[in-house]
Amino acid sequence: MNQPPTLGIVTAARAQNSILEVTMPRWTPLAAEPQPTLREFAWQYAPSFFLDVGTACPLHCVYCSVERGADDKVVRMEAREHLYMRMADGAGAGILKVTFIGGEPASRPDFLHLADVAHAMAFDDVILATKSVKLARPEFVAELKAHNVSIVHLSLDSFDPAVLGKMLASKTAPKLLLEGLRELLRQEVDLFLFAVLTQHNLPGLLDYVRQMAALQAEFGRPMTAVLTPLKIESRAARNRAALVPKMEDLAAQVAQALDLAKELGVTLAYKNIPPCLMPNHRDFALERYLQELRIDLETDERLPAAPSTYLTHGDACATCAERELCPGVDKRYAAQFGWAAFTPI
Ligand code: SF4
Repeated sequence: MNQPPTLGIVTAARAQNSILEVTMPRWTPLAAEPQPTLREFAWQYAPSFFLDVGTACPLHCVYCSVERGADDKVVRMEAREHLYMRMADGAGAGILKVTFIGGEPASRPDFLHLADVAHAMAFDDVILATKSVKLARPEFVAELKAHNVSIVHLSLDSFDPAVLGKMLASKTAPKLLLEGLRELLRQEVDLFLFAVLTQHNLPGLLDYVRQMAALQAEFGRPMTAVLTPLKIESRAARNRAALVPKMEDLAAQVAQALDLAKELGVTLAYKNIPPCLMPNHRDFALERYLQELRIDLETDERLPAAPSTYLTHGDACATCAERELCPGVDKRYAAQFGWAAFTPI
């Protein structure tokens, strides 16, 4: 059995940034008919904050939006001490769920130690956002459990190995990742899936939902997935011609997938799709159940989220009844395709 680490000086210091960006559940979902499963999901996942451990990742996904410099080779690795202090900041502010993000957090040699530190700081949930092929190894999943990783946010864009191979730019990773999902289910780790929608996987979205339903029946555990358009930055921006679907096509596919998910009894939600494109499915937008806020750690004041660095609104959006809840449109998408598809409500 691993001994919890000693935390000595950690809580005496504060990470350099005195603002903590957090995700909070909405007490009252802003939905016409709130979906009970999405409400539960919001409270399982939040209040939480992201802990960015750095940009290192052994995969080279064609749609990766993580910044690694012009030559794609600049790797940032956050110092352990900074991560300790950020966790102390979150715990001190009463945000007791931490989501490790990267890059690939599971590829950090000290990841399990960091999970131990989070556990020792009494976080309710230690969440790992991952696409690690190590999940295919039963002993690695057992280690995650032993080190108190309580929820896995699994990035899985398709159940079709050929499609996944194109997106991950790998022949071997798809099979391992799909095995990893089964291993997590076998070992009863709480998880949800996260799929980034591109031209590659959009046509197979209904099959994605069917595969979720099949796993749900096989393992007797509820399956949840979140769908999102890709962020056109970094490598994704360089590969955009082969990746970016028209938003109206994407929205139509997501609407069909939501209908099928309802029929098959699996939980599906989306984020970052403007409400004007989802007239009949607005209650499935995560923004209606979760909200982004900032906490000033000096004053404990709750502040609105900072404006997005990559999403924007058009001039006509100023008159839209959904403007406050609308995440906006990717700036690069709007620059290429314009605003004709986005009609104020
Ligand atoms: S019109 Fe603009 S503000 Fe309204 S939902 Fe569409 S993109 Fe959002």
